[in-house]
Parts: sequence; structure tokens; C-alpha cells
Amino acid sequence: MYDKVQLRSCLLQTRMALPVIEWRQKSDDICSHLTNSQLLTNAKTILAYFSFRTEPDLSSLFYDSNYRWGFPRCVGKTMSWHVWKPGDSTNTGAYGITEPNSDASIIEPNEVDLILVPCVACDHRGYRLGYGGGYYDRMLSKTEWQSIPTIGIVFEFAYLPQLPIESWDKPLQNICTENKLVLSAEC
Ligand code: ADP
Ligand code: MG
Repeated sequence: MYDKVQLRSCLLQTRMALPVIEWRQKSDDICSHLTNSQLLTNAKTILAYFSFRTEPDLSSLFYDSNYRWGFPRCVGKTMSWHVWKPGDSTNTGAYGITEPNSDASIIEPNEVDLILVPCVACDHRGYRLGYGGGYYDRMLSKTEWQSIPTIGIVFEFAYLPQLPIESWDKPLQNICTENKLVLSAEC
């Protein structure tokens, strides 16, 4: 069994070696699965991410002003969530990740209908491998976030039968790859 550190490094290398044309096509296919899903169409406020290190690019979705989109700022060990729409300014934050300005309106957990979670890998049980910061594990361990639907976003090559997990790892409810949106039994 690979450990998390080796797996992360190996899968990130594979992802960063994807030809841009494939990355674009797979990202567009993920966006299509999402826009066809009731999880999205029934939502109003959706938390997402700006593509970093060849994560699937969801930015075409952000132009749909039927939704209110929120993006994270890493502040110490936690993330704060802020409203952002195309044209609004951004900063480069911790880890080199693009983030909204600190003066953008905060989004509280009770306003959120759906969370799109970037993943280095996911497994068939919904467990996630991130970059190793534990940010989403910390967030999803809090009661105010626990009942909000989540969709892990991952390319198919990194959607694996079983990842190594630790006691603090929090599974995601649903997973979307370029091939399919896998919904949990409750959806
Ligand atoms: P990732 O989920 O980003 O792949 P890990 O699961 O390896 O990263 O977690 C990274 C770190 O985050 C671990 O050292 C762990 O102690 C910390 N962590 C995760 N969840 C919590 C939590 N609920 N409270 C405090 N620390 C946490
Ligand atoms: Mg984890």
C-alpha cells in the first residue's frame, strides 16, 4: 500500500503532465456533468475553487449569475469563504493559490447549498487526498459544515478504489470525474 506522501507526489506528477488539450476537454466534461445535476441546479450559493496546479478548471461555471459563488482564503489553519464573480479582483494567497480580496463579503456556512471540493485523489468510498494541509478535513469536521452536500472534483485517473486514510479524514458525499457524477445514496 502506498502511503499518502508517495501517492500525492505520483498523482500530482501525472496530473501536471496532462496535455493542455486533454486537461481542457476533461475539465469541460466535468462542468457538463455538474450543470446537468440537480445538486447544482437546486443550489443558490456554491463554494468552489480557482484551478491550481492543473486541478480541473471549473471557471466556465462561474459566469452563471443564477448562482452566488464563493471561494476560499487560507487564513492560518482555516479557510474563510468570500463572494466572488468574474471581473472582481483577486490576490495570490498562501501556497500561491488565487483567492478573493479580503474585503469581499464573507459567506457563512448556513448560507451554503453545495461545496465543490478540489482533490488530488478520491476513492470509491468518498475519501479524499488533498495537498496535505488538512484544510477541508478541518472544515468538514465542524458541525456547521457537516450537513452541506459536497462533490469531490477529480480526474478519472485519480478516482481510485481505496486511498490510505487517517482518523481525521472526512469523506465526501458525491464525486465528479470527466466520465461520471457518482451520487451518494441520499441524492
Ligand atoms: P489532506 O487531507 O490535505 O490530504 P491530511 O489528511 O494528510 O491532508 O491532513 C493533514 C493534517 O491536517 C494532519 O496533520 C492532521 O493532523 C491535520 N488535521 C486534519 N483534520 C484535522 C482536524 N479536524 N483538527 C486538527 N487537525 C486536523
Ligand atoms: Mg485528509
